[in-house]
Amino acid sequence: MRIRSIEEINKKIKKGDATVLTAEEVSLLVREGNSPKAEDVDVVTTGTCGIMSGTAAILHVPVADPGAFKKAKNILLNGIPGFPGPCPNEWLGSVDLIIYGTAHSIYDSGYGGGFLFKDIVGGNEIEVEVESTEGEIFKSTTSIKDIGTAQMIGTRLAFKNYNSFTNPSEEVVSSIFHAIDMEGPFKGLSVSGCGQLNPLQNDPVMRSICSGSKILLNASEGIVIGRGTRSSNEKPNLMLTADMKDMDPHYLGGFKTGAGPEVFDSVAAAIPILDQSTLEQTFILNKDIVLPVTDIRGRHKVLGSTDYGEVWEGSDERPVYHPENCLNCETCIVRERCPTGAYTNILNTQRCFGCGMCAYSCPNNAFTMESGSVRFDVDDKSIGMPIICRQSDIKRARELTAELKRKIENGKFILNSCFE
Ligand code: SF4
Ligand code: SF4
Repeated sequence: MRIRSIEEINKKIKKGDATVLTAEEVSLLVREGNSPKAEDVDVVTTGTCGIMSGTAAILHVPVADPGAFKKAKNILLNGIPGFPGPCPNEWLGSVDLIIYGTAHSIYDSGYGGGFLFKDIVGGNEIEVEVESTEGEIFKSTTSIKDIGTAQMIGTRLAFKNYNSFTNPSEEVVSSIFHAIDMEGPFKGLSVSGCGQLNPLQNDPVMRSICSGSKILLNASEGIVIGRGTRSSNEKPNLMLTADMKDMDPHYLGGFKTGAGPEVFDSVAAAIPILDQSTLEQTFILNKDIVLPVTDIRGRHKVLGSTDYGEVWEGSDERPVYHPENCLNCETCIVRERCPTGAYTNILNTQRCFGCGMCAYSCPNNAFTMESGSVRFDVDDKSIGMPIICRQSDIKRARELTAELKRKIENGKFILNSCFE
């Protein structure tokens, strides 16, 4: 039975009277034996952060004086190829383009679209190289303040269902689902997903988060355009868009994998509590969310299963760096493997993603981090292995979820709805 409307919630938000809980705060109440009532909660905020390959940017980039070239045939931003168009911008000296978060630099195999998007949003200077349809090359630099349009579109973000991956074979496998080439057999698990905090885990049939809903995408206020590609009722995901000029570079970036650089984003969504059943959907606990363990070769063969309790309960958000243990090795394997470039000779905590590769890789325990382990049965044999790579960042997800809660409490984020 409906106990309030969106309009009533928005009136409370505008007056600063709305009661807002994060999905983890709801889960904690449930774990402690409480049974929250819809009468007492107006909004639940949810969030996720992880590799989201379906991320692209639509940009309008100044290149040269008007009339300098007719049309762009090819364009590189920091060495990363984009797709000029669809508008030809004939004789304008500027280029409309689409560029993928999964694209790779032609000059630097460790640099890709995710790193570029972070650089753009962070206001860094971007090198532009254009080949015109007449074959002339134009080089310039630009930055976000000169880029006319910078709109991010996510074609399939914030999935509800993830798989985890292991390698059951002797061969080494390159994949976007692990930070490095994955060794086997059963040396470790690579996981994704923010469990009980994940937006669609708290709204599995998209009653509250659907076309037209406002969201935060990398801290910029955007909207859900619709269901993402390959979205289904069983495995939903979201198509989103937001203005990159309002994004916070902390929440997005590049993440190197065994198959080259990828892109990560952070998404937060609000669930208006209009009735008890909507609130009860947010009672989900990590230990109750199944995470299939899948063969990284081909990704569809399910070998067993674990749950998000094993992934996130009791695990560390971030590694601890012990510089006294560092032997200054000639080649630092941590530096080579750190997917976000957070470790050079010092640890940049702002760039760190909490993936765990440093603690897994350093032979001298210069990094430590509790990232959990799993056990499951394969062919009647019990297999145990550590979680060696997390491709989702629970810390950033928590931060953005809390930021959305603050915005609603302060009357800065008014809800809209797809179902009223
Ligand atoms: S591998 Fe470990 S001990 Fe060696 S330089 Fe890197 S952090 Fe230091
Ligand atoms: S957890 Fe370690 S390897 Fe992963 S991003 Fe942070 S410093 Fe780099």
